[in-house]
Amino acid sequence: MPGSKADSRKRSKSKNGNGSRRIWKTPEQRRLERDAPQVIPMYKTEKERRLDEIQKWMDENLPPPETPEWEALCTGCGKCCYDKVWEGDRLLLLTSACPQLDHETNRCRVYAERFDIEPLCLPIGPEIIEMGGLPEDCPYVENYPGYQGPKVVDKSLDEM
Ligand code: SF4
Ligand code: SF4
Repeated sequence: MPGSKADSRKRSKSKNGNGSRRIWKTPEQRRLERDAPQVIPMYKTEKERRLDEIQKWMDENLPPPETPEWEALCTGCGKCCYDKVWEGDRLLLLTSACPQLDHETNRCRVYAERFDIEPLCLPIGPEIIEMGGLPEDCPYVENYPGYQGPKVVDKSLDEM
């Protein structure tokens, strides 16, 4: 019988039970929803996330690039200028070096224009750290947690 106690319990159950409440929208609300610009989430790739993480670590742990403090970190070992090749997902550090490396001083002969002259020359930054291109004792990465540098092999590029 409509209006009885049992009927009111039934109504109350269907309103608040398992399912969600039905919420009616006005035609105007529906129109606004339909016409709203679609926001497409931009998900970063795993590599992009890793590069961001390295950049954050660099910002927090190294002096700003190009400053005297930054430059002073380099011990001048020259190892980052030796040839590297991929073996699987790890780089090998070879005995041959970039033609611009002065073997007497271990310094770059064209330091100021190195990126214009040597297309394979990479700045010290997230990319080279992410690929493990700096030796593990390089001061720019020696404190990076879990850093794995290239595997040193006794071969030149010609012998590979
Ligand atoms: S490996 Fe590091 S310390 Fe050695 S020359 Fe390169 S940047 Fe400098
Ligand atoms: S051009 Fe780059 S890789 Fe070559 S010696 Fe200079 S700094 Fe090293």
